[in-house]
Amino acid sequence: MTARLIDGKAVAATLRAEVAEKVRAAGFTPGLAVVLVGEDPASSVYVRTKDRAAREAGIDARTIRLPADTSQTDLLGVIRTLNTDPAIDGILVQLPLPNGIDARAVIEAIDPAKDVDGFHPVNVGHLANGHPALVPCTPLGVMKLLRSAGIETRGARAVVLGRSAIVGRPMAALLLTADATVTIAHSRTRDLPAECRGADILIAAVGRPEMVRGDWIKPGAAVIDVGINRLPDGRLTGDAAFVSCAGVAGAITPVPGGVGPMTVACLLENTLTAALRRR
Ligand code: NDP
Repeated sequence: MTARLIDGKAVAATLRAEVAEKVRAAGFTPGLAVVLVGEDPASSVYVRTKDRAAREAGIDARTIRLPADTSQTDLLGVIRTLNTDPAIDGILVQLPLPNGIDARAVIEAIDPAKDVDGFHPVNVGHLANGHPALVPCTPLGVMKLLRSAGIETRGARAVVLGRSAIVGRPMAALLLTADATVTIAHSRTRDLPAECRGADILIAAVGRPEMVRGDWIKPGAAVIDVGINRLPDGRLTGDAAFVSCAGVAGAITPVPGGVGPMTVACLLENTLTAALRRR
């Protein structure tokens, strides 16, 4: 391996400690409501992780568990109650939602000032205009990782693999705001390897285990692997083939221990940001 390892666990631990310190200094307890509909096992794990991390940072985390057959009307009612609850600064609805519930309607019902996932169209619009308000946690975490590793975005050619609303699109907007020249690639892109080989910074967010190979990487490039894929044998792997990419890249994030921990830490930071703005 020639690439430097970007240790997301360590960077996230520092950020979490900073948030905890700021919460102590704030003189009030920020409140975070995490809404989980149904019993998707992966979602339940994510929600528990977020809840625990929030408590450790001194945030009053409240997990609201609703049965899988909750109607959209009832869910929207819960959101409205949280919107007007003065003790709640951040609202997160864990995705995916069960079939029959329109995720878009639910996200649009969240007060943009409490939208700590940054998915509300008002926050998406601010981000697209280059004036970020509450920014989606995973791409925000990636930007912090790049900064912590001293990777220059200004003037860099960045390729974002994936165009989801949760990762790819906001990622591209943040890199653009940080003065990178950005290409967004997706399943209809012609010659993905050639696109990727032009990248000084490659962000992989496709959800395809080990799709990105070493011969897709420009020597010395930074590879940020957002993917979290569970293999049939139970192991977790990213969207990049770690060993082959690390032989060519200049810096790379591992999976697990790269972007994942940053997502949780940035949720805490967003909750604090929302709380400080509101109060
Ligand atoms: P989505 O499935 O919503 O989006 C995947 C994107 O990848 C789409 O834009 C799709 O293109 C593109 N894509 C899929 N297959 C290919 C292919 N063969 N070639 C080129 N492009 C392809 O996934 P998410 O954005 O939600 O998540 C991506 C990955 O990141 C997943 O592994 C997920 O688990 C992980 N993740 C990790 C987080 C973390 O905290 N580390 C947080 C969120 C997600 P098209 O639009 O054309 O269909």
